[in-house]
Amino acid sequence: AIPLVAARSTGISAQKGLFIRNRIGFESARRIDTMIFDKTGTLTHGEFGVTDILPEKDVSEEELLRLAASLESQSEHPIAAGVVAKGREENIDIPQPEAFDSMTGAGITGKIDGKTISVVSPGYLQREGISYDERDFSKLAETGKTVVFVLQEQTLLGAIALADVVKESAKEAVERLHQIGIETVMLTGDNEKVAQEVAKQIGIDQVIAEVLPHEKAEKVKELKIDGKRVGMTGDGINDAPALANADLGVAVGAGTDVAMETADVVLVNSDPLDVVSIVDLSRVTYRKMI
Ligand code: ADP
Ligand code: MG
Repeated sequence: AIPLVAARSTGISAQKGLFIRNRIGFESARRIDTMIFDKTGTLTHGEFGVTDILPEKDVSEEELLRLAASLESQSEHPIAAGVVAKGREENIDIPQPEAFDSMTGAGITGKIDGKTISVVSPGYLQREGISYDERDFSKLAETGKTVVFVLQEQTLLGAIALADVVKESAKEAVERLHQIGIETVMLTGDNEKVAQEVAKQIGIDQVIAEVLPHEKAEKVKELKIDGKRVGMTGDGINDAPALANADLGVAVGAGTDVAMETADVVLVNSDPLDVVSIVDLSRVTYRKMI
């Protein structure tokens, strides 16, 4: 039978919008010393808006946006919604691409008007040895903007910058975790500079950036091997294996079904502050039971 205190906590947690799916994970919440957060959609709203369109010579802004929006119309990444919305706003005719493929953690590629077009991350450009103006890029990244690059074959056509908005309570959540002795880590596929800037705004202790989706779970394991008791909070399909590896897996309620099915606790209100409530509630619930 479930002890009375534990049964009572279920009622309290439901009122607070914490949906406990796995009691063992919830019980370990009181012992965690490290909380890892995914960035996009977890600490930020995950709703990108295009802020800058930066074509290379011989390419118009409109053409750059048209090609990017065409490919992005086939993607489910939050970046994609931002690019497509901008294309619509500018009344651009967005063609259906003739082919489409996503490159996990690096971007997307396909065919438009018979040409091979890709929209990719800064890391992808670096790996492929394609050069771009490092100073232009830094200026955008240092304000926390996410930058993607549009390519035709291996030729750079231009860059598009997008801004996401940090959730109102993210900073307070991190402060309160620190007060109760929990270290904070940001784990993201986004670029290092962007991640550092957003982490600074929120007060996160450590940043692990440019991780490929399958590496997120590995990073959680590594921290555990270092002797940490690890919580992981995320929202995406990519986060699910990491949630499964953590001592406490927390899914943000507005996220994907896969993340929610894997998590120990689901935050119905998608509020980072509720992570603090989980730890508090777990400590109160199990304190007397050791
Ligand atoms: P995250 O969700 O943490 O941002 P992802 O692994 O989904 O990480 O993506 C990593 C990076 O790959 C993104 O920051 C972006 O640069 C690039 N990327 C992924 N999907 C797309 C897409 N649809 N359009 C453009 N870039 C993309
Ligand atoms: Mg995310």
